[in-house]
Amino acid sequence: MRRTRMKREAQAESAIFDVVIIGGGASGAWLALDSASRGLKTLLVEQYDFAACTSSRSTKLIHGGLRYLRRLDIGLVRESQREKNLLLHMAGDFITPLKFQIPCFSPYETLKYKAGLRLYDFLSQNEKSSGAYSREEMVSKSPNLHHDKVHSLLTYFDAGFDDSRFAIELLKKAFTCGACLLNYTRLDFFIYDAKHKIIGARIKDQIDFEEFEVYGKTFINATGPFTDIVRKINNPSETKIMCLSRGSHIVVDSSFLGTDEALLIPKTVDGRVVFMIPWKGKTLIGTTEEGQAKPEKDPAVTPEEVSYLLSTVRQFLRHGPEEKDIISRFAGIRPLVRRIPHRSSKILSRRHEILIESTSKLVTLTGGKWTTSRLMAEETLNRMMAHDLLPFRPSITSTLLIQRLDNIPSLPVSEETLKEKIHYYVKEEMATCIEDILSRRERLLFLDPQRALQLAPKVAEILKTELEHEYPIEQDEKAFTKIVNNYCPQSVRLS
Ligand SMILES: Cc1cc2nc3c(=O)[nH]c(=O)nc-3n(C[C@H](O)[C@H](O)[C@H](O)COP(=O)(O)OP(=O)(O)OC[C@H]3O[C@@H](n4cnc5c(N)ncnc54)[C@H](O)[C@@H]3O)c2cc1C
Repeated sequence: MRRTRMKREAQAESAIFDVVIIGGGASGAWLALDSASRGLKTLLVEQYDFAACTSSRSTKLIHGGLRYLRRLDIGLVRESQREKNLLLHMAGDFITPLKFQIPCFSPYETLKYKAGLRLYDFLSQNEKSSGAYSREEMVSKSPNLHHDKVHSLLTYFDAGFDDSRFAIELLKKAFTCGACLLNYTRLDFFIYDAKHKIIGARIKDQIDFEEFEVYGKTFINATGPFTDIVRKINNPSETKIMCLSRGSHIVVDSSFLGTDEALLIPKTVDGRVVFMIPWKGKTLIGTTEEGQAKPEKDPAVTPEEVSYLLSTVRQFLRHGPEEKDIISRFAGIRPLVRRIPHRSSKILSRRHEILIESTSKLVTLTGGKWTTSRLMAEETLNRMMAHDLLPFRPSITSTLLIQRLDNIPSLPVSEETLKEKIHYYVKEEMATCIEDILSRRERLLFLDPQRALQLAPKVAEILKTELEHEYPIEQDEKAFTKIVNNYCPQSVRLS
C-alpha cells in the first residue's frame, strides 16, 4: 500500500472510478471495502491521515448501545447487537468480548436495570448473557468500587476494540480487493457535466500541495462532522443537517478500575452514562456531550469536562482519580443528524442518514456509530444501485474475514521494536509522519503523550530513511510537540 503508487493510479488519465469516497473514517473505510469487494472500481480520498478525526477518538466499544433502551430506540439496539455479533465473528483478531459491570444503588434500580438487560440479551440473541455478582464476587471482581454503597453489581457483555487500528485494517482489506486509497488528499471542488451531475473533483495533495483532478461515476460524502461543508461545496445554498457534539475522555492508571472488566456508571448529573474502560493497560473514562460549533481534527478537552468526568467516577470508587492522576485526555466530535430542529444533541438518535441530491447525485452517508458502520456502507451502496447510479452487485462484507495481515511484534512500541514497525507502517499502511505512527498505528499518544514525545525524535529519524518523499524532519517534530499539548493533562505544558 504505497502512497506514490496510489496517487499515480488516481491521476491516470484513463481512470474513471465507479465510486469516489470522500472521507477515510469508519464510514469511508467500510464504504471502500463494500464497494471494492463488490467489484467496483473504487477511490477513497482523506484530507488528513486515515481515521484521524472522530474514528480514532471513540470510547473503543462495539456495542448494542444499552443506553438507547432508555429512549426505547429498540430498532437501533437490535441493529447494533446484530452488527456487534457479526463483527465479533468476522474480525475476532481486532474485536473482543468485554464484560461490563453496572453498580445499582437500590432494589428499585436493580430491578429496573435487570429488566433492561433481559431485553438487551433478547435483542442480541447471543449466548453470552447478563448476570449479577454475589457480594463476595463484587469485592474480588471490582476491588475499587464503593461496596458498602452498592446494592447489587449486574453484568453484561459488549465488545472492545482499537478504533483507528481497525479502520486501517479495513482499508488494507479494501486495497486487497482493488481499492485505491489516498490519505492527506483533500477534496476542494466538484466538476460537473452539462446537466450539473458530478463527474469529477479537484483534489489537493496535502504533502506536496499538488492539485489534480479525479473522475468518477458516483461520489459519496462520508466526511462525518465535515458533512455540511462538503454539501455546501456542492451546493452553497444547502441547509445544515448536522448537529455536532463533542465527547471527551481522560486516561488514568488501570488501578482506578482495578479489574479487566468495564464499568458502566448508569446515572450522571446530566442524565447520561459514563464508562470506565480497560484499554491497553490503562483506564479510559468517558464521555461528555458538549455542543461543538465547527468541525476540527483535534478538539480540545475543557477543564469543565475533566471535572465532570472526575467527579462522576469518584462517587462510585473508594479511591477515585484526581486531576494529578490524569495521564492523557482526548476528544472527538459526534456527527449527529438533526432531524428535528433545535433538539439537544443528548436526545438525538445515533441512527444514520443516507441522502442523494437530486441534480448533482452527490450521495451523503452520515450519523451512525462505529458499531453500525458496516451496515451503513452496505445500505448506501444498495440505495445507489436502487437509484440506478450503479449496476446491481450484491454486498459481500458480512461474509468476509478481517484478519491480521502483518507479522510485526504486537508488543507495545519501544525503541527496540520501532524500526521494524515503522518500516511496515510506511510500506503497508501509508504512514507519513510522527503523528501517523504514534497516534493511530500505535496508540501511545492517547495512552501516554509524554512518553510519545520522548520517542518522537527516534521515530522521525527512522521515518527519514523510510519515506519516499522529502521529509521535513524539524517541522514534523515541532508539529508533533504542538499536538501532544492537546493530549497532556492541563498541568503539563510542553514547548
Ligand atoms: C466521543 C465519542 C465516542 C464514541 N464512542 C463510540 C463507541 O464506543 N462505539 C461506537 O460504535 N461509536 C462511537 N462513537 C461514534 C463513532 O466514533 C462515529 O460514528 C464514527 O467514528 C464516525 O465516522 P465517520 O467516518 O462518519 O467520521 P470521521 O471519522 O470523522 O471521518 C470523516 C473523515 O472525512 C474527512 N474529510 C472531511 N472533509 C474532507 C475533504 N474535503 N476531503 C477529504 N476528506 C475529508 C475527515 O478528515 C475525516 O477523517 C463515538 C463518537 C464520539 C465523538
